[in-house]
Amino acid sequence: MKGGLLAIVSHPDDETFGCGGTLALHAENGYPVSVLSLTCSPEERRSELIKATEALGLEEPLIFDGDRVTSDKSLVRLVSDVIVSKRPEIVITHLPFDYHSEHRLAFELVKEAIEWAAHTTTYNQPWTVERLLLMEVNTLIPTPHIIVDISDVFHKKKEAIRCYTSQLAKFSWGYYEKFNTRKAELRGTQGSCQYAEAFIEEPLAKNSPFFTNKSTRNLFKKSG
Ligand SMILES: [Zn+2]
Repeated sequence: MKGGLLAIVSHPDDETFGCGGTLALHAENGYPVSVLSLTCSPEERRSELIKATEALGLEEPLIFDGDRVTSDKSLVRLVSDVIVSKRPEIVITHLPFDYHSEHRLAFELVKEAIEWAAHTTTYNQPWTVERLLLMEVNTLIPTPHIIVDISDVFHKKKEAIRCYTSQLAKFSWGYYEKFNTRKAELRGTQGSCQYAEAFIEEPLAKNSPFFTNKSTRNLFKKSG
């Protein structure tokens, strides 16, 4: 899927709440877009995620079986394996200051996996991710770097949200539907459109192969 977009999330539903509109928009525009969920617990969330990604117009998601996100090195390796096989130009994941500890762990894990995916010592055909974007699920970004206008696909995001019946049932006052609509309206107001999603762009180290790609004789040019 060279040149595509890969969302790596802690739990089924994070992709829809955090970046469902952005995923749907780019899939509609012909970019390869996929989702990796690091956990699936309870099991019913698997079918909800599959239905939600269908509603967003994405390919079938990749779903790891674990109950919890951990900082286990073997999980980092599994994620870098997915990055090397999917070869995405852009990865989206969680905020380092998210209120949810498993979202914060996912941020660390994904950043490390991106780095390892680019190492020739790890892979015969390594892959360098160009950009890492961080999304807002329930914790808001104080100052977004990027606002994506999702007005044309917001109906798909709403349909995907409705697929998460097990999560919606937890809040009788319609928290997820209301919060995600208000959030999209807030970001839309900031971005001068109807509905939007906000992101932070996280700088990537890109230290592989070592530092050769950072060598320069002219600060006004990217290299050379
Ligand atoms: Zn989550």
